[in-house]
Amino acid sequence: MHPELQQHPEYFQKEIIQLADNVYMAFGYAASNVYMIIGDGGIIIIDTSETTSAAENILAEFRKITSLPVHTIILTHSHRDHVSGASVFAEGGTPDILASERYSGNSLFVASDHPLPVKAMQVRTKRQFGIGLSYPDEIIGIGVGPGDRPLAGMGAGSLPPTRFISDAGEHLSICGIDLQLSLVPGETPDHIIVWYADKKVLISGDNFYHAFPNLYAIRGTAYRDFDTWADSIDALLAFAPEVLGPGHTKPVFGVETIKESLTDYRDAIRHVVDETRNGMDAGLTIDQLAHKVKLPPHLAEKRHLREFYGRVDHSVRAYFVGTMGWFDGNPTSLGTLSPEDEAQKLIKLAGGKDAVWAEIATARDAGEFQWALQLIDRFIFADIDTDRARQAKAETLRAHAVGQINCPTRHYYLQVAKELEQD
Ligand SMILES: [Zn+2]
Repeated sequence: MHPELQQHPEYFQKEIIQLADNVYMAFGYAASNVYMIIGDGGIIIIDTSETTSAAENILAEFRKITSLPVHTIILTHSHRDHVSGASVFAEGGTPDILASERYSGNSLFVASDHPLPVKAMQVRTKRQFGIGLSYPDEIIGIGVGPGDRPLAGMGAGSLPPTRFISDAGEHLSICGIDLQLSLVPGETPDHIIVWYADKKVLISGDNFYHAFPNLYAIRGTAYRDFDTWADSIDALLAFAPEVLGPGHTKPVFGVETIKESLTDYRDAIRHVVDETRNGMDAGLTIDQLAHKVKLPPHLAEKRHLREFYGRVDHSVRAYFVGTMGWFDGNPTSLGTLSPEDEAQKLIKLAGGKDAVWAEIATARDAGEFQWALQLIDRFIFADIDTDRARQAKAETLRAHAVGQINCPTRHYYLQVAKELEQD
């Protein structure tokens, strides 16, 4: 396993973190963070985790601090990992549940009245998050959350919002607590953030966490507007918070530290946009740019921009497709050979299948796992030595997973290896 991931179990240890005298954060109990603000005669919960079991554990901790009833639940956005414990926090009552008027209300992460490739999304979601991988040998964490968290009741406790926050935002007074809720679209279009001005605490949802932003999710997502996300980081900076509570990973304390972290984050997104756009204007293809565009070292080295969750090269591809569509500009790409035809021709060109198998063995011995995988895929596409190729692919994916710093990539390799071995 990648040495930086080995530190994650310690980083994500459960902890109730006090952000201000009446503001608490449940960290490490679930994939995402849950917040509690204690007001006069009631409490406000911000986000609710991804499972009812995690929500029960968190509520039990909060109940050691206060017995006041839950008056209001605020959902920063509609992703499953933030909304699925709402029924637990409601405790059988009827708290106000606030969300953006853009809230999708769809636990599959997308809003559409038309049919979608739901099965493909479910299969890929399972692979990305390593659902079915064993802790700690296979899954150490999700990159922005712990690996050893309860999974019972996943997606089970979501409740519909009772009141929607308009795009203009709202100032609210809840149990004597004055909060500003603002639409700040980033990872999703329905993101709202919570500003508690009296304590200078900002709850940012998933527009910031300590990992390179997931500008594209390999489970499959529509284009997440990169420029809008960067603009939204400017909106976060404008509050000049003294405490920043992200949707995942640890809080950030101190005006200057927060300013530096958010500025880095914004600059990293803008850098990917600028470099990709300039490369597109220069006529480079999507594959060339995915290999060419890198973060500058002073950003790439920061803890909050390590590729634990998002990946720079995947973001480059997403920007290209999001702005120009799938065609890379190269006329060769306007009509390609079928994968079957290309594979058969390549194996023949190489001197036959034995020569290709020899090259695969050489590549694997040299640690060139990507090259080995690309060759193995030719056998699978050409339907030559298929069983042997599937076995070799599973073994190579496992070997390739070891060096990955990106958790979704690591999980995807390991989960598909399992699927190949089980079929
Ligand atoms: Zn999240």
